[in-house]
Amino acid sequence: MHEKCGVVGISLADRDAARPLYYSLYALQHRGQEAAGVVTHDGFQQHDHVETGLVGDVFDPEDIDALKGTNGIGHVRYPTEGGLGASCAQPFSVSFKSGSLGLAHNGNLVNTDSLREELATLGHAFTSDGDTEVIAHELARNLLEQDLVRAVKSTMGRLHGSYSLTIMHDETVLGVRDPQGNRPLCLGELEDGYVIASESAAIDTLDGDLVRDVEPGELVVLHPDGSGFDSYQLFDREHSAHCFFEHVYFARPDSQMDGDLVYEVRRELGRQLWAESGIETDVVMPVPDSGRSFASGYAEAAGEDGADTEFAEGLMKNRYVGRTFIMPTQDERERAVRLKLNPIRDTVEGRTVTLIDDSVVRGTTSTQLIELLREAGAEEVHLRIGSPPIVAPCYLGIDMASREELIAAGRSVEEIGERIGADSLSYLPVEAVTEALDSDREDLCLGCVTGAYPYDIEGEKRDREIERPGSEPASADD
Ligand code: AMP
Repeated sequence: MHEKCGVVGISLADRDAARPLYYSLYALQHRGQEAAGVVTHDGFQQHDHVETGLVGDVFDPEDIDALKGTNGIGHVRYPTEGGLGASCAQPFSVSFKSGSLGLAHNGNLVNTDSLREELATLGHAFTSDGDTEVIAHELARNLLEQDLVRAVKSTMGRLHGSYSLTIMHDETVLGVRDPQGNRPLCLGELEDGYVIASESAAIDTLDGDLVRDVEPGELVVLHPDGSGFDSYQLFDREHSAHCFFEHVYFARPDSQMDGDLVYEVRRELGRQLWAESGIETDVVMPVPDSGRSFASGYAEAAGEDGADTEFAEGLMKNRYVGRTFIMPTQDERERAVRLKLNPIRDTVEGRTVTLIDDSVVRGTTSTQLIELLREAGAEEVHLRIGSPPIVAPCYLGIDMASREELIAAGRSVEEIGERIGADSLSYLPVEAVTEALDSDREDLCLGCVTGAYPYDIEGEKRDREIERPGSEPASADD
């Protein structure tokens, strides 16, 4: 199950956390549109409200008022193919012998099945097939015998895969990032408390300041009175495995992630796209909204080189249609593209066009858009993509399609270009991504564009020696 989601946790001095949690989930809505939820703790008991739907639909003012307590966590859930049982919505909460737990998870474990089986043998009963419940049971089990920090560490030692978590243990809010830091997580300071969130844009929304990213392998424990936080570096890995696709597509451009402003990374990728495969056409235009920052960098670099290319909007987006991937069938996805984007005839008629987007997954969007632009009178349509071809699936939390559905799997760039009907097509090489992120290849997860992963995944290649879960903890008993 792919859990590409958004998480948040907040501890405040003497104000209920529900409203700021609600606002920050709004800021993270792009990370998941299928369900939303908040769990708070008022010092005596847990309160929760979790439902399917968009944040704005899930919470009424009365729901927010009923979520008492100055500490809480929240979650937005990305749609998964095959739909969602209400049992999969989050935060997931459980009561057990030594208290209550709430868990919000972004990421995907790759050893869920074996963990679930082990726990089931010990008598744990599961209500969903998700990995979040497995983490919750494992943590609850460890909490019976260990203090909070040790229990989190023992739990992390058993998990393999990607996870950024916000956790509520009674009224204490925690943030945990997996030892390779695959999914993002950051820490912010508010006037009267602290916040942990998937993206810094959520902190901005609360008028807070980004303190820093939560480090890979780090546990952050917020003081329940909002006065501060404690940090425990529980696992150290030589290399991280940050998901490059967060920077390319998934994150908001106004988020600061692992040291980079996402907008600037995308502009830089656009500049490199011009340097690698720029072509002088009458007009260059983005696929809104995902191609916008790339196209602005591309057009800027083209201008600096003296290219006679106009930068213009040639496609208008219907902002009331959600992300195309929400549609589960191919037929619906194709219709959705036309519902979502409409060409501006004057920009394209009788002209040569360069169309810029961040990525091609199944090829549905680009095929449809090229057809639309030709219908609107474009003479030539050249497609430039600000990332490498996606040739393999994601097992770490991005809902990307299976290998058979990926248009670039097993095809040359030329073949892909022909299939989608472009006059020419270019992608960026992997090196351009590492350069724009100012990262070593070994510190990124590039599985979907190389087919080799920084995790042990059955039937797939690895791109490094994998340090097994639990190996060489930083300091065994801190
Ligand atoms: P496709 O139409 O399948 O080729 O998908 C490519 C389009 O969807 C591009 O415009 C991307 O911005 C966007 N996209 C890429 N990856 C994803 C994803 N994991 N979920 C939703 N949309 C995506």
